[in-house]
Amino acid sequence: MTARVLDGQSLAARMQEEIKPEVAVFTQQHGRPPGLGIVLAGNDPASEVYVGHKVKAGTSAGFRVDLERLPATASLADALALVRRLNASPDHDGILVQSPLPKGMGRGAEQAVFDTIDPAKDVDGFGASSVGLLVQNRPKLVACTPWGVIQLLERENILIAGRHAVVVGRSDIVGKPMAMLLLHRDATVTICHSKTPNLPEVCRQADILVAAVGKPGLVTRDFVKPGAVVIDVGINRVTDATTASRLYPAGHKRLALFQSKGSILVGDVHPEVEDVAGALTPVPGGVGPLTITMLMANTLKAARDRLALAG
Ligand code: NDP
Repeated sequence: MTARVLDGQSLAARMQEEIKPEVAVFTQQHGRPPGLGIVLAGNDPASEVYVGHKVKAGTSAGFRVDLERLPATASLADALALVRRLNASPDHDGILVQSPLPKGMGRGAEQAVFDTIDPAKDVDGFGASSVGLLVQNRPKLVACTPWGVIQLLERENILIAGRHAVVVGRSDIVGKPMAMLLLHRDATVTICHSKTPNLPEVCRQADILVAAVGKPGLVTRDFVKPGAVVIDVGINRVTDATTASRLYPAGHKRLALFQSKGSILVGDVHPEVEDVAGALTPVPGGVGPLTITMLMANTLKAARDRLALAG
């Protein structure tokens, strides 16, 4: 069996095209575009890349996107003050604070910042209020990556209700909200983590298997029930030849890409899984592009909801 490819890239492009005219209507009706404030503290290279994609996608869809930078030496108080300014801004409907924050801000800084974002503007859905509403199945703004996975499953007509979903990973930003969203769609959900015994055996029970771990190719063929739907959330940069050749056989075009570039992006799911799974998201081009699209969708929703409340 060769798995059906769940093409997140093209779904993300279609959804962006759907959002564009809605942004234009909003702008015409309210005399301003929906606005997103992005806080970037420090100069982490990966964060620069992610934020660059968010600014570009938002701007090209017609949003106002303001990038607010803080130096790597900024304190937690500086970050909170900036968030409060954006909370009070009438022109910003969404606020996103890019993680990781500089280590100097101290442990717990990220959650303190997320919890300071006005829940009405919490377009990343990481604040305690957004999470609580999700757990109670009355979501307002849902974390973009798991929300993107749900869009993909639903638009690909993949049945969720009554099926066994196994989520590997229990982070606040992916694993836990993913499990909640599947649960609220009537899946029977198992959450696995680094202390789960017999991981392959547990995963093999899944009709829908979501890997959100951060370990290149962890999910091998023996984790997957034949025909299962496999969602690969992982984005891992591989820079060593041993890992690259564990994932791809000699002569494979991805291995050739690694050899010419010196690094390659891979998921948490081993490529051999495509011979066993019924459907599979590729990396790159699967879940990643949907995350940014859902950020746009959340910002538009926040803008509409805020103005509806105001008026
Ligand atoms: P975290 O590091 O926060 O969480 C990883 C989770 O995986 C933890 O719950 C951890 O368990 C679990 N884990 C680690 N090792 C194992 C193991 N050997 N077996 C089983 N479980 C294990 O990562 P994130 O949730 O933030 O991200 C996960 C992946 O998704 C990363 O590759 C990240 O880059 C990617 N990502 C992709 C996005 C996208 O847009 N596509 C967006 C966000 C993330 P424990 O809790 O016990 O430590």
